[in-house]
Amino acid sequence: MLSNRLKYIVVCCSVLIACFCAFTVFAQGATKPVVVIDPAHGGADPGVLGIDETAEKDITLAIALALAKELAKESSVQVVLTRNSDKAVSLEERRKIISEQKPAIVLSLHANAGFGKTASGYELYYPGFKNIAQGGKDAAGKAVAGSHQYLNDTVKMARLVQKNFNAIFPRKDRGLREAEVPLAAGLTAPVLTVEIGFATSPEDKKKLATAKTQTQIAQALAKSIKSFF
Ligand SMILES: [Zn+2]
Repeated sequence: MLSNRLKYIVVCCSVLIACFCAFTVFAQGATKPVVVIDPAHGGADPGVLGIDETAEKDITLAIALALAKELAKESSVQVVLTRNSDKAVSLEERRKIISEQKPAIVLSLHANAGFGKTASGYELYYPGFKNIAQGGKDAAGKAVAGSHQYLNDTVKMARLVQKNFNAIFPRKDRGLREAEVPLAAGLTAPVLTVEIGFATSPEDKKKLATAKTQTQIAQALAKSIKSFF
């Protein structure tokens, strides 16, 4: 039988340990925003095939892994990848991951195709404000807080990526584009689609397949993410 004094000490210690555990969980959750990185395509879906048959799915995965590595150098964000290997992940599965994680930002990585072999450069797509009057702003032009904040966050991230990409790829900016993105449909999460270059352009393609350019892109994206928070 424990003495009353010993019981008292045991109870106090248990309460302290419980408080510490709760605080640790709370602190981790509170201080680490989640960044979802989505390397598009994978598995049986190669995405765009470049001039030398290098697949878009391999380029997006390489850059996503390099970006995760860059972000791991500091622990201020929690990184979640929708895939970390060459496997098929359906659009529904990707959307499920995003909605479960409640991310602060989602970067979906693609490589472009088309417009002949001369098109090159990067493009950034964010979901449109079309259905939202005045782009989430009130009559005085003041941003409306709350439900549309994720759209404002997406634009904020798009501008940061544009700035940091311009620093490494001058004159390659094809602009910020408003478009409905299937991955983001129905979600209230900030999803930015980054078309990192043209797999069909001999110039872009050669660069995109090199570890040097992949690292540069990953570093520019990591820098943008750090500036975002
Ligand atoms: Zn794609």
